[in-house]
Amino acid sequence: MTATSKPFQTEVQQLLDIVIHSLYSHKDIFLRELISNASDAIDRARFESLSNNAILEDDHEWKIKLIPDKDNKTLTIQDNGIGMSAQEVEKNIGTIASSGTRNFLAQMKEQKTAAAPELIGQFGVGFYAAFMVADRVTLTTRPAGAPDAATKWESTGSGTYTIETVSKQKRGTSITLHLKEDMEEYLEEWKLRKIVKTYSDFVEHPITMDIRREEVSRDENGKAIEGAEKRVTLEEETLNSRKAIWSRPKNEVSDEEYTEFYHHVSHDFQDPAEVIHWNVEGNTEFRALLYLPPRAMSDLFMPETRKHGVHLYIRRVFITNDCEALVPHYLRFLRGVVDSADLPLNISREMFQDDRTIRVIRNNITKKILDTLSSMKERNREKYTEFWTQFGGVLKEGIHLDTANREKLTELLLFETSNSEPGQLVSLHEYVEAMPAQQKEIYYLTGDSRAALENSPHLEALKSRNYDVLFMSDPIDEWVVQSLPTYKEKALKSIAKGEMKLDSEEEGKKREQERQENEKEYKDLLGAIKEALGDKVKAVKLSDRLTDSACCLVADEFSMGVHMEKILKAMHQDLPPARRILEVNPKHPLLQAMSNLHSQNAKHAKLAEYTELLYDQALLTAGLPVEDPLRFTHRISELMASQAGSLSS
Ligand code: ADP
Repeated sequence: MTATSKPFQTEVQQLLDIVIHSLYSHKDIFLRELISNASDAIDRARFESLSNNAILEDDHEWKIKLIPDKDNKTLTIQDNGIGMSAQEVEKNIGTIASSGTRNFLAQMKEQKTAAAPELIGQFGVGFYAAFMVADRVTLTTRPAGAPDAATKWESTGSGTYTIETVSKQKRGTSITLHLKEDMEEYLEEWKLRKIVKTYSDFVEHPITMDIRREEVSRDENGKAIEGAEKRVTLEEETLNSRKAIWSRPKNEVSDEEYTEFYHHVSHDFQDPAEVIHWNVEGNTEFRALLYLPPRAMSDLFMPETRKHGVHLYIRRVFITNDCEALVPHYLRFLRGVVDSADLPLNISREMFQDDRTIRVIRNNITKKILDTLSSMKERNREKYTEFWTQFGGVLKEGIHLDTANREKLTELLLFETSNSEPGQLVSLHEYVEAMPAQQKEIYYLTGDSRAALENSPHLEALKSRNYDVLFMSDPIDEWVVQSLPTYKEKALKSIAKGEMKLDSEEEGKKREQERQENEKEYKDLLGAIKEALGDKVKAVKLSDRLTDSACCLVADEFSMGVHMEKILKAMHQDLPPARRILEVNPKHPLLQAMSNLHSQNAKHAKLAEYTELLYDQALLTAGLPVEDPLRFTHRISELMASQAGSLSS
């Protein structure tokens, strides 16, 4: 059979180059990556053999074997796992299917390679690490249960690979690294032992190696006989202790072991942010070792591309590497292992969702994680803030989806506020504690970004009273507030909707008088503005919330806010045209001038023009596009020309 030569997908080559160059100082980890892959492959074969015994053929002893060959300067990593078909080899080793990974690669290129080790952790690049130590890699593989379908793949890691059908007897995958000139230490027994011990000790399948021993012949007194031939023995030895880390008592597991296990289960190169290891006994028994990753991974919003979530074991037998039913969707950033004693081994994936035991475990995990986060928030705010910055957006989905835990989740929320520095986050509890006595409601404003929110005219009256406003710039916040009408009996109130009742009773009376006077004065102008704008607005009102700006758009208390409308439109939802209330500021010189003009000549041509400009301003400050940009710019130019004319004359 002749080999076919094919080019790598461009992205694969990029990834390969980045891995080779950026992880150079961590090159030992190539072995960890290949062992992890081998161990996953065995897990999958073992799981499949539960329902299809035939795939075991006559090879029942799961094993990963390291074969250093000093004569040929090769190191082979051999497993008897699930193996791959030719198509699988091409798909898994030759292409990157996920667009998320491609985007990350582009990002990584921009950031230069210094930042790469952390970024690399966000996708599976394990196999390519082999090219850090080898200038040629040969992979031979045969799927379990398919004796005639062996494939050989080979590449030097630059540009192309070859692929051909071969005859291979054994089930599983064998990867031979033709070591680079200066990488020969990876043939040494001590070096391989050390790497396995450091990175892969807990792998539950034996990692073995033939150990060569030389024995000298001795006389009766135990003295070596000079010149006598040495006796050479080869004995296969298991290098790892194989202790499932999650079944060991917590105080016997070191931080390093936890960290290495995290690398193994998550295929993440970075160190975990938090380790959560516990044990539940009683009606439902299980052990869990879960991790909070340090950073959001590329698959957070693309669950279909995720390969390593929470692994499920049943009495130490691996069942699946991503059991979605075990954790609620809003905790999907969790990584690690759950080992249950109460599930039947023959449980099928379709049954997970409805299984009572799984449900009990899920509830227990949810409680544990929320408690952990809550205590992290109390004890180590900096660390919690870091977690929140990465995963807060996902956690917030829970407020909407998990009514049973809404209260706990609410305590975990953090927001920037109008009074806080950028990046400084405030909890609802802290917000309420700091509320002045006369403030009755919790104020919030939704928008695209802190910058947009900070400049919103809606803030003006609150700023002048020094009331703080929660800034909600994450699209999910719109759903959060819908599910959260009150906190500690205080209503959450959008400052861009409905009426603002900011005054105390006494102030209110004074202001009411002022308002009545203003209303009398502006009644005709407001009527004219409404008439000119027609159906574009629902009403035109005098504003209580503006101090500096001339106008703003406001939604009815119970209708959809402007920001929510923008989000839904971005999601291509068909919405009926929203009609907003235009609020105008009676203290603003523009309104006063318009009012004067109107009382002199209600039909003055400029009035209609100013009205339109006023409305356009309101649209712009709400972050909405003006309806006719060309007309808008013409009008502004005209105004500037006449202003400049009067300045120079
Ligand atoms: P990751 O392990 O993070 O998915 P890799 O590049 O290391 O990324 O591997 C890509 C894929 O190739 C794996 O997900 C797996 O499907 C397949 N693979 C790698 N090594 C083996 C192996 N020894 N046996 C079977 N399949 C393997």
